Amino acid sequence: MAKNNTQSKKAEEECKSECSSCATASSCSSAKKGQAGLPPKAAIDVKHVIMVLSGKGGVGKSTVSVNLAYALSNHGKKVGLLDLDMHGPNIPKMLGIEDHKLAMADDRIEPVHVTGMLSVLSMAFLLPDISTPIIWRGPMKMAAIQQFLAEVNWGSLDYLVVDLPPGTGDEALTIAQLAPNVRGAVIVTTPQDVATMDARKSAKFIEKLGLPVIGVIENMSGMLCPHCGEEIELFGKGGGKKIAEELKVPFLGAIPIDIEMRKAGDEGRPFIIKRGSSTSPTWTAVDKVMESLISVVEG
Ligand code: ADP
Repeated sequence: MAKNNTQSKKAEEECKSECSSCATASSCSSAKKGQAGLPPKAAIDVKHVIMVLSGKGGVGKSTVSVNLAYALSNHGKKVGLLDLDMHGPNIPKMLGIEDHKLAMADDRIEPVHVTGMLSVLSMAFLLPDISTPIIWRGPMKMAAIQQFLAEVNWGSLDYLVVDLPPGTGDEALTIAQLAPNVRGAVIVTTPQDVATMDARKSAKFIEKLGLPVIGVIENMSGMLCPHCGEEIELFGKGGGKKIAEELKVPFLGAIPIDIEMRKAGDEGRPFIIKRGSSTSPTWTAVDKVMESLISVVEG
């Protein structure tokens, strides 16, 4: 009998630890015991939490997150941008605030107020320098994310845009479990097959979490040659639209490769607010994506 009790206790412990890292924990009935051990949803005042995901790195997920967050704030929305790409937190560099260190106010973390309408928090602000790698296991990441949600003076937000690492890891799982009002995920992909294949995986992952895919964004979709003005399909074109159709989720739009976009990221001045960029087709494309996103999220 005593042996049975020990065995069932052990099984329960195993179940709890497995459930905490399982993609289907929120919808699986056998996960109830594990769920009970999870912290409650963070008490932050936000209308819409949007996760930005990609199947692979380098497809422009952070670039899209930064420009979307800025575009939303330019349209009168109060926006928080949370950089959870812990192993490559590039958002501060893209916003020109990489030297910033976090400050505390009333025992709470103060995010960086980039403008009156846009606040940013990134793991990078906690590192001694930008070349320091983070070597953390899942539970440590989970604890940090919990703090980034619950112990930060976000104020009252319309949108919290969460830039996640590529793939299907702990960070997305934790946000889905701990953040309130998660509306779903935006999936960023480039047009070629090797990228869309992984984007499809991200979509399935989001479905397993019981969340909707808000839409697919095709980044690096064709490029206007700066010399002759002719369009070059460097990574192809239309792959993002095709998987959106296949998955029956909204296609939010395509953003071309634009040298100015790359320069803007390196200079720490988001493309969407760079002087003179508002007349370019790339600017119009980013703005259109943002409008599609608002119309899907806010109906
Ligand atoms: P990810 O977050 O997916 O790893 P990044 O946003 O860091 O990708 O982008 C990778 C690189 O590609 C960066 O140098 C960025 O400036 C550049 N980039 C992203 N989108 C575009 C684009 N549409 N045109 C030109 N360069 C881009």
